[in-house]
Amino acid sequence: LRRSENLASMTTMAAGVAHEIKNPLAAMDIHLQLLRKAFVRNTSLTVSDAERYLDVLEEEIARLNTIVVDFLFAVRPLDSRLRLGQIRGTVSEVCAFAKVELAAHKIVLREEIASYLPRINFDDHLVKQALLNLIKNAMAAMEGGGTLIVSVRQDGNELSVSVTDSGVGMDEQTISKLFEPYFTTKASGTGLGLTMVYKIMKEHGGDVTVTSKKGEGTVFTLHFPVPESEYIALEEGGQREATYET
Ligand code: ADP
Ligand code: MG
Repeated sequence: LRRSENLASMTTMAAGVAHEIKNPLAAMDIHLQLLRKAFVRNTSLTVSDAERYLDVLEEEIARLNTIVVDFLFAVRPLDSRLRLGQIRGTVSEVCAFAKVELAAHKIVLREEIASYLPRINFDDHLVKQALLNLIKNAMAAMEGGGTLIVSVRQDGNELSVSVTDSGVGMDEQTISKLFEPYFTTKASGTGLGLTMVYKIMKEHGGDVTVTSKKGEGTVFTLHFPVPESEYIALEEGGQREATYET
């Protein structure tokens, strides 16, 4: 199932790349034609004109290179190492790391981490990467400052990590395109951040969901499956401490 899912997203990615590559290629084509015309007519091709054409060619080549490098990064199989443990520390570390930059943007960070959490199978590095992507997006959505809540709790047989912002929010149309590779509304966005988050959560046998309201804010939630052994231990209320690891 996972392989077919990868293949499907690979097809979407390839279509995205093909689309992205078209614009730089068209620009290069036009400027090469302009150069050729100037040569053929053997008229005065000024140095500054020639330089302008060459600059465009160079810029577009650089853009093509970025597209290819980003693509390779996004489709590369994730080298995940899932280990059973407490996610609490991982989440706190990301928050501590982001705190300074959030404060500089007049964003108040609130951590709401449940005191008892089951252990889950996760890759520390990948979860940090996913959370940072969500926090960066939240920060971009709160230009004039706001509140960012990072919460961790158990929801039945799932462990949920939510990132809630009080930012610009999104309309239905934007929400439906969020996880598509290369979908971005930012001038210098890659549109690959949430694609990566999606991929990371699939790698964990989990999922990512979103709720948002235009003008009010957005909640992204990472859902991790709780291993059956941990789930059972938690149900036997008295033994909760047994699953708590510092
Ligand atoms: P990028 O950040 O490069 O644009 P992403 O995949 O991270 O790419 O996000 C895609 C788009 O989803 C963003 O351009 C933005 O329009 C929208 N988005 C993501 N997170 C949020 C958020 N927290 N609030 C509002 N819009 C968001
Ligand atoms: Mg992003």
